[in-house]
Amino acid sequence: MNIQTALKKGKLKLRDNNILSAQLDSEILLSKAISKDKKFIILNLNKEIKKKDQRYFEFLISERAKSKPVAHIIKKKDFWNYEFVVNGDVLIPRPDTEVLVEQILELTKNKNKLKILDIGTGSGCILISILKEKKNFIGTGIDISNKSLKISKVNGDKLGVNNRLRLLKSNIDNFSTGKYDLIISNPPYIKKNDLKCLDKDINFEPKQALDGGFDGLSEMRKVISKSSKLIKRKGYLILEIGFDQKNKVKEILLSKGFYIKKIVKDLSNHDRCIVSMKI
Ligand code: GLN
Repeated sequence: MNIQTALKKGKLKLRDNNILSAQLDSEILLSKAISKDKKFIILNLNKEIKKKDQRYFEFLISERAKSKPVAHIIKKKDFWNYEFVVNGDVLIPRPDTEVLVEQILELTKNKNKLKILDIGTGSGCILISILKEKKNFIGTGIDISNKSLKISKVNGDKLGVNNRLRLLKSNIDNFSTGKYDLIISNPPYIKKNDLKCLDKDINFEPKQALDGGFDGLSEMRKVISKSSKLIKRKGYLILEIGFDQKNKVKEILLSKGFYIKKIVKDLSNHDRCIVSMKI
């Protein structure tokens, strides 16, 4: 079987299983199966595939057909300028979250040696991206999940920032170490009752990373309240929020002594990020 036929077979199987990104996913999985990049695939459509690689490709397609996310199948995800290792123990980094990185880099353009705290660091995608861009910043990432800290450690090593990255297992209630110039968090913010209505793919991700309790804001409240104690005066708190949470989160921030500097929309034009400053 040649590359073109394999791609088509893969795409049809995914489409039959209601996978919307069938074409793209088939390409990514074939590229994994034959260990070549996308450019090679496009330029070699008539090239025959080895039997062994073909069987491996069919296996990868069958995994995706069961809605397993591509990032879990290929064990990596691109975020910002970097490639992060992921597995089922961490939230898959989302393109919308890159908005936070953009804002943080803008805010810290002329700053040096800042101390950053990332609450619920997961794969470490936000914090590690910042440490990559700002060579003299120092980061602390906390998470309640030991398994996810293993992944952020792998990413810190792989991307060469571990000498400036401290990773600690803690929930936000028990954490009270240090004072920070900048605090970041993409906390779980989905309402408990909405969890079961999400795309099938999302069932493969850790509930803990998504579940924001009854009104979606129970972790957000804790993060804001604790940040108001851990942050230096005039320090920035940058939060990711759900598309309909702007007003409620603003209210919580104001009540904890933060000034709202900016609300930023994501790629689909939803309110996604609040930049605030401790006064
Ligand atoms: N900070 C990580 C991310 O933004 C994990 C967030 C989470 O697990 N809620 O992807």
